[in-house]
Amino acid sequence: MKDSQNIDSCSFCDIERKKHIKFIAGSKPDIFICDNCISNINKLISGDDNFALVNNEPEANKDFNQIAPKKLKEILDKYIIGQDMAKKSFCVGIYNHYKRINNKISNDKDDDTELSKSNILLIGPTGSGKTLMAQTMAKHLDVPLSITDATNLTEAGYVGEDVENVLTKLVQTADGDIEKAQKGIIFIDEIDKIARLGENRSITRDVSGEGVQQALLKIIEGSVVNIPPKGGRKHPNQDFLQIDTSNILFICGGSFDGIEQDILNRLGKSSVGFNTDNAKKISNLNIIEEIETQDLVSYGLIPELIGRLPVVTTLNKITQKDMEKILVEPKNSLIKQYIKLFSLDDVTLVFEKDAIKEIASIAIKRKVGARGLRTILENLMLDTMYNLPELKDHDVIISKESVIDNGSIKITNNKISTA
Ligand code: ADP
Repeated sequence: MKDSQNIDSCSFCDIERKKHIKFIAGSKPDIFICDNCISNINKLISGDDNFALVNNEPEANKDFNQIAPKKLKEILDKYIIGQDMAKKSFCVGIYNHYKRINNKISNDKDDDTELSKSNILLIGPTGSGKTLMAQTMAKHLDVPLSITDATNLTEAGYVGEDVENVLTKLVQTADGDIEKAQKGIIFIDEIDKIARLGENRSITRDVSGEGVQQALLKIIEGSVVNIPPKGGRKHPNQDFLQIDTSNILFICGGSFDGIEQDILNRLGKSSVGFNTDNAKKISNLNIIEEIETQDLVSYGLIPELIGRLPVVTTLNKITQKDMEKILVEPKNSLIKQYIKLFSLDDVTLVFEKDAIKEIASIAIKRKVGARGLRTILENLMLDTMYNLPELKDHDVIISKESVIDNGSIKITNNKISTA
């Protein structure tokens, strides 16, 4: 019989024994597991990941997910290649957001310093990791996330989705739990596409953009909003759900194509008439990193909305090297996923280095960032996947030539070798 008095820490996470933590004893002496590790194991078993780190934040922090920025970045680093500055300021924004919620709950009444919301604006090219950053964070903080494309949103009364539907979506991802939704994350993509039509801008831009921005502003700044429980339009006889948006984190993303010109104009470095030295300096500069509020105003975002998105961070275009890393390094990289899929049919899949380089360079040419990788790989692997169940105990080798002409994928086993 084990003596429960002798337990002093969990053998998995080392958390010290405290009154409110339950421990289960193992069959070997001095082995114990705490209730939080058991709950982590349950999550692991029911989720898609096949590996989890022990993460026992102190009980008091757990409710509001207040994990240090460095720790948050370590999580992002496992999934997102490059984008170091963006990841850093994103994590500080997330940390401050949940710190603000904690502070609101425990605020002593004499302290009237109110912390404002740190909603985030992510600026970067298509396929550079903006959505992935929001998704990874929401998953690891275990908060609901809704993703909406701003171009689908309209002012009430127009054809399209009412802005308030973003809240309904969030409640739906929180399985109807309003409390949970009120601490969730809303990601609004393509925010640049609802910039109002500015001077010299493309006339394809949505002319009602300003109305949508105003409508968004209302929910982003924090208010109690009535939402129809099932989405769609509001009807007079319908029961409404009330949702308080003051603790919801809003992340907006956009590529802001052409904004570099606004930045250059502001810096007085318009492409006309600067000397060679200046030109050299500017071409070495990542112009987008110089972005300021007034450039966003020139681009057509209303100042009030920009004011509600105080954390502005920029992501870089994916380079050839990054693209190669994206294929292989992230925890759930596409190549790792294919290798796993093949191994489940007892087939060994090998990508040669040059093949990775070739796939990356095709993706770069498509100009949709890392978003293009999946389609390239799906096309490349389709025939082999089709025949996969018949390839048990074979090796499938993908070379540069296979990528250029996917007829030449090499399939071998101990006896046969076909090219
Ligand atoms: P966007 O910036 O347009 O929101 P996404 O985050 O949706 O781009 O990226 C599309 C896909 O490309 C992601 O799901 C991911 O597979 C891959 N990807 C993009 N950027 C990165 C990155 N920096 N690191 C790892 N994967 C990335």
